[in-house]
Amino acid sequence: MSVPLGMPQPREAGGSGSAVQVPPSADPARPSAMPAGLFDRYGRRATDMRLSLTDKCNLRCTYCMPAEGLEWLAKQAVMTAEEIVRIVRIGVDLLGVRELRLTGGEPLVRADLIDIIAALRQAHPELPISMTTNGVGLDKKAAALKTAGLSRINVSLDSLHEETFAQLTRRPFLDRVLAGVDAAWAAGLGPVKLNAVLMRGINDAESPALLAWALDRRYELRFIEQMPLDADHGWTRQNMITAAEIRELLSADYVLSPDSRARDGAPAERFEVRRRVAGSADASGPVLGTVGIIASVTEPFCSDCRRTRITAEGKIMSCLFSREEFDLLGMLRDGASDEQLAGRWQDAMWVKPKAHGMDHVGLGAADFVQPDRSMSAIGG
Ligand code: SAM
Ligand code: SF4
Repeated sequence: MSVPLGMPQPREAGGSGSAVQVPPSADPARPSAMPAGLFDRYGRRATDMRLSLTDKCNLRCTYCMPAEGLEWLAKQAVMTAEEIVRIVRIGVDLLGVRELRLTGGEPLVRADLIDIIAALRQAHPELPISMTTNGVGLDKKAAALKTAGLSRINVSLDSLHEETFAQLTRRPFLDRVLAGVDAAWAAGLGPVKLNAVLMRGINDAESPALLAWALDRRYELRFIEQMPLDADHGWTRQNMITAAEIRELLSADYVLSPDSRARDGAPAERFEVRRRVAGSADASGPVLGTVGIIASVTEPFCSDCRRTRITAEGKIMSCLFSREEFDLLGMLRDGASDEQLAGRWQDAMWVKPKAHGMDHVGLGAADFVQPDRSMSAIGG
């Protein structure tokens, strides 16, 4: 099939072995005859579902939430455990979702978290189910999460210094997070991935030490470029730490070489890490582990994006930066059938933007507008 230049190649609709494909299209209306699957106009297919369990959080990370918090959703507005299980089932059974990440807000603050995971696991014995958490309280719940059927965990950790951690999160909880990370590892929720956002003048200089700490313990550290998704609207393109700077910062101690494993739609570009011979460009010794860099702003991976997002109140977002949301939960509560809900989900994904345009902001172009929702209200 010929594909216009610059368009991503469509992927197979029915998983491996299927010959069904959806070609790129300029038409914003979804064709009536479509194979099952979450396709968009540019030939991408979403198979990786990010589902937010709550908008609430017990930290106030400066790059995400304001100090005073946000106006939380009313309890009735948030998806119940049963609604979550149904939506995931539609995603997996009717629309080809292959992977689920639970997020928030902070998923650990949800009282029925363990029950939700157990129900999801019972419905989908083989589905990879991971969770992104700030780690506060994880030490007490890690074993139960594993027993309930959680496959793996990502913990956010921006600093190993109490003061810096408290400055970034506005809470003095570093010890609790570190206990949570260790408990997750001990409970068998590995590989444990750590997410770190670097902020200029606050924790950027700590990046090689953070990597050393993670490598020692065999945790997979990923640095995430700060995105304009803070509720305070304090992000600037000039002030964010870019992926190029992160590589430069790490090169003081390490030599990074691209990991040969296929990226396969993953947001993080992975590098193998070896120690740098002091004062030289050469590496010495064995590969110590890997580090990931998620360069959403400066090296975007939109053309290979496989994500579909459901907010805590059951809205479909095709992209973190979508300005359009599609209400799935309201329709479900109004009695829609699984097929009707799947159709709406497909409509929502069909109009997924081609790219977010973040790297233009502050650099002379004005086509990027920060979304109204901040990261915690979307589900990062
Ligand atoms: N509360 C959980 C946590 O912090 O891990 C899960 C939700 S949080 C929104 C998910 C991830 O988004 C975290 O790793 C966090 O560091 C990241 N994040 C939040 N705001 C961000 C921003 N403005 N730019 C980049 N990453 C951000
Ligand atoms: Fe909470 Fe996570 Fe946002 Fe930090 S990044 S405020 S832990 S939702």
